[in-house]
Amino acid sequence: MRSPIVPFFIAHQGCPQRCIFCDQRAIAGSGGELPASGELLARIERYARSAALPLEIAFFGGTFTSLPREEQERLLAPLQPLRAAGTVGAIRVSTRPDALDPETVALLGGMGVTVVELGIQSMDDRVLAAAGRGHTAADVARAFTLLRAGGIAVGAQLMPGLPGDSADLALDSLQRVLALAPAMLRIYPTLVLAGTRLAERYREGSYIPLSLDEAVALCAAMLLECRKRGVPVIRLGLQATAELATPGRVLAGPWHPAFRQVVEGELWYALLERLTGGLVSGTAVAVNCPPGRVSDVVGQKRGNLDRLRVRRGIAVTRVTANNSLPPHGLAVVHPGGHLAGALF
Ligand code: SF4
Repeated sequence: MRSPIVPFFIAHQGCPQRCIFCDQRAIAGSGGELPASGELLARIERYARSAALPLEIAFFGGTFTSLPREEQERLLAPLQPLRAAGTVGAIRVSTRPDALDPETVALLGGMGVTVVELGIQSMDDRVLAAAGRGHTAADVARAFTLLRAGGIAVGAQLMPGLPGDSADLALDSLQRVLALAPAMLRIYPTLVLAGTRLAERYREGSYIPLSLDEAVALCAAMLLECRKRGVPVIRLGLQATAELATPGRVLAGPWHPAFRQVVEGELWYALLERLTGGLVSGTAVAVNCPPGRVSDVVGQKRGNLDRLRVRRGIAVTRVTANNSLPPHGLAVVHPGGHLAGALF
């Protein structure tokens, strides 16, 4: 079971420049100052009183390893007694692929950092340059090698839909990242946030974001690929913070407060349509799915069932969880028998 996470958002701290799409303060809804040691310990203590131990401590939203070395040590030092006591079991930091060297990796490993999440965004150098990232795909491969040599797990963040990106390039980036064997992935389709340089490009008409439908189809293909390879996707789409929900914050792009559920629903809809492809219009069916997947199969606001009825004329009378199905399996019971299949 995953440890409860105690998050610290250090928005833009350590970042050498501002990437054209990024506004961590809007994403996290917090100012992002580096926490003082007392503040750090007080928050961990609060979590420790109510959450199951051990905890995972996470520094998100900035470039942790570009902070001055003494700042990195200052943030990690108070965690050491808590690691020894078993209160803290894991430490995670986010950084850029070009902000790592052997000394930094040794420092992180020595102070108990277990996971480094790399903001990769794309493995296409032209897309990276257009996003003002300031690093290349070669830096990503180098960062994986360094971290793995230091015994630190690597998480990867990808951002389909950046300027110059395409569905094919995004899927190619995913394949190249999967070839590096990340421990986990986050996928954030690009949004146009107010106050960013991407917002200026959007306003002047030189950038068109993915539509919600395009982002859902692309992220469904990416999610399926990760599932096939056994790599967990721990987040799909930005978390729906109050700040992001504020009118005028997200100017354009595939924003949906329950983006992951829409994407999961898309995968199950494709399977549902495939399985019922041979049934005549007007057939009524019952669907069995793995436990925990009923709402994904039904879709947001029953969207999948409505879509199947309108497009194929198939009426789903009920969707039931069934323990005997494999995690990716689906069974359709119709008047003439029973059809079974799986996502992959
Ligand atoms: S994307 Fe990462 S490196 Fe770029 S500005 Fe945002 S936090 Fe900093």
